[in-house]
Amino acid sequence: MTSNTPVSDQLFDRARSLMPGGVNSPVRAFGSVGGTPKFMVSAKGPYLTDADGREYVDLVCSWGPALLGHAHPAVLDAVHAAVDRGLSFGASTPDEANLAAIVKERVSAVERIRMVSTGTEATMTAVRLARGFTGRNLIVKFAGCYHGHLDGLLAAAGSGLATMALPGSAGVTEAAAAETLVLPYNDLGAVEAAFAAHGNNIAAVITEAAPANMGVVTPNDGFNAGLSRITREHGALLILDEVLTGFRTGYAGYWGLTGRQEGWTPDLLTFGKVIGGGMPTAALGGRADVMDYLAPLGPVYQAGTLSGNPVAMAAGVATLTLATPEVYSFVDARSLELSAALSSALDTAGVDHSIQRAGNLFSVAFGTSVNGVHNYADAQAQDVFRYAPFFHSMLDSGVYLPPSVFEAWFLSAAHDDAAMNRIFDALPAAAKAAAEA
Ligand code: PMP
Repeated sequence: MTSNTPVSDQLFDRARSLMPGGVNSPVRAFGSVGGTPKFMVSAKGPYLTDADGREYVDLVCSWGPALLGHAHPAVLDAVHAAVDRGLSFGASTPDEANLAAIVKERVSAVERIRMVSTGTEATMTAVRLARGFTGRNLIVKFAGCYHGHLDGLLAAAGSGLATMALPGSAGVTEAAAAETLVLPYNDLGAVEAAFAAHGNNIAAVITEAAPANMGVVTPNDGFNAGLSRITREHGALLILDEVLTGFRTGYAGYWGLTGRQEGWTPDLLTFGKVIGGGMPTAALGGRADVMDYLAPLGPVYQAGTLSGNPVAMAAGVATLTLATPEVYSFVDARSLELSAALSSALDTAGVDHSIQRAGNLFSVAFGTSVNGVHNYADAQAQDVFRYAPFFHSMLDSGVYLPPSVFEAWFLSAAHDDAAMNRIFDALPAAAKAAAEA
């Protein structure tokens, strides 16, 4: 287990005396892999540097936003210029519409957009808007999908809840939980049955465009299209959560890779992560008639002191402007190379596994080669215990992986051959550690 980072050890001791678990977001605490979380002081391209001066090839990429790599010079220039003009005005700014126009041009399902500050706010607002628009109460979500920490969507929510093996969260009222129907992922029959029983009272189905918070799960062929059809038949809305996949899996997100060609369109979409290029920005968008139900035009209230923050808008505009189709081709290719190398290292060490993939997102699941992972029950049934030794071996070799088996691995346009070779070199020992677990 990694122990030679005395400065991180000290910082963690101090943080634990000041913050619950020493962190501001639970998975950062290394709870499921053990050891001391590394405190990061800088990041550049594909690398992170910790407080002890150790450099890591980063496969977390800030959990998605760093599509271009860390501290891309053009993004930093745009941010510096925005900072020089002032940090926040509490009034409209030109870059809000610039970012909105870029999103709309890329994702034709977006007719109107509202900027918020976090993915949680985006999904929370989408849910409220769906209820306000339809006049119905129930929301359907899928077990293992994470949509942020809003009360009603924390049941069987994946992400940190999966990592910590929590069924849901204390502090969520029974009333809030009762308005959420949790169904197994990839099971259209269960969706049909829920609509047969409650169709007149279901406001929306919310789903990750491709799940990446129970590890990565590929939507079955026709699953998302089926959700679109069923919601439409029953007068409910489909909310496609692209907080993680949007502008990361492709130029127009996961919907751009799949749904657009299949000929279905979500009613609402949520975005986060890449859209802010590392600054706190997220958004919801979709059908104009639905979006115009938001205040000030409509009766559904939503607001934010820092919404559309000018520094964050500058980072988003610069990032999306640089995120060309070539960037996605590069990240796609890197993702295939890395997942192939990972799989072959695990095969050589005799570790049963499956590579879980959706576009350029992938994760590994241990002990699942026969059937793979198609839903939350499959994800939870895997050999979770193999991940901690694998993770720590990689960390010791200077590769920073997500500290949970239930998270995707993130690459960037900055992962050059030197960075990739460092990862490839680290894999055999980590695979051996996983085999010996
Ligand atoms: N939806 C999805 C699919 C996510 O992956 C996340 C965060 N990982 C969220 C919503 C919530 O975003 P945030 O952490 O910015 O609140």
